[in-house]
Amino acid sequence: MIDEVCPQIFRTEIPLPANPLKAINSYVIKGKDRFLMIDTGMNRPECMEAMEASLKELHVDLEKTDFFVTHIHADHLGLISELTRKSSRLYFNFPDAEVFRHPNLWEKLAAAAFLNGFPEDDLQEAIKRHPGHRYHTKGLVNLTLLREGDQIQIGSYNLRCVETPGHTRGHMCLYEPQAKIFFSGDHILNDITPNISLWSENDDPLRQYLKSLDKIVPYDIEWVLPGHRTVFRNHRHRIEELKEHHEIRTAEVASILAKGSQTAYQVASQMAWDIDCESWDDFPLPQKWFAGGEAMAHLQYLQGQGKVVRELNGGKAFFRLAG
Ligand SMILES: [Zn+2]
Repeated sequence: MIDEVCPQIFRTEIPLPANPLKAINSYVIKGKDRFLMIDTGMNRPECMEAMEASLKELHVDLEKTDFFVTHIHADHLGLISELTRKSSRLYFNFPDAEVFRHPNLWEKLAAAAFLNGFPEDDLQEAIKRHPGHRYHTKGLVNLTLLREGDQIQIGSYNLRCVETPGHTRGHMCLYEPQAKIFFSGDHILNDITPNISLWSENDDPLRQYLKSLDKIVPYDIEWVLPGHRTVFRNHRHRIEELKEHHEIRTAEVASILAKGSQTAYQVASQMAWDIDCESWDDFPLPQKWFAGGEAMAHLQYLQGQGKVVRELNGGKAFFRLAG
């Protein structure tokens, strides 16, 4: 499915089979003699098939195409190694590139998950089935790393980079002030809530995310062009809803901790999840992984506010209410 969302900006829905996200939006902007693609799809045949059909219909020549990827996740970056040519530029951000190049990333994540209560017997299988592990790009070449305020010119559009850490450490959006359009990646979505999930205890991604939401409030935006689902207006209203969602989630996590000291994994198993499963035991392992990471992000946030204390006991990290 392709639609022209703004003059010379085309949105293609690339399907994500057996994934709650259902599909990802890949955008193509047609310039005078080059194309710019924003986000790609996972590195799997179903995505490549849809991408090839779209490229054909839009008459896109990959030899004349550059790429901007909003963040490291496999549904956005995964297909990049299949699409880039020698002549292609790949625009990306510093922090996520550093994560991608980390030599022992999955070992580090597994150790953090284990520390926070993820069962040892399920760890290897959870990572094996994790889409970020299974469907990621084979590599990153011709990287042009961008920072806040850097610009990309394509056709009549002058896109400005906006750093929005939270969903990932280096998440980056693009703003076009003349057309008042905002490519939001997974920072602001309308029909679903962006996942804020991280096992590592060295960051406070939820605090960063809420700050990055506030940053976008004053922007003059006509249309938000998101990474998933439909384009939408009224970003300020949506930002309010997202902030409220995290307030409710944070309160839920605190109320679970009122029962006593627990690991992030134990907290996750008692939170309410919008998933088609009878009980926590029935959750697919990748969903348990994401849920644990999300519980963790809210616990870190509460800890950063001084409302929760973290203690190590028997090789595991436990959280309890302060005071
Ligand atoms: Zn994402």
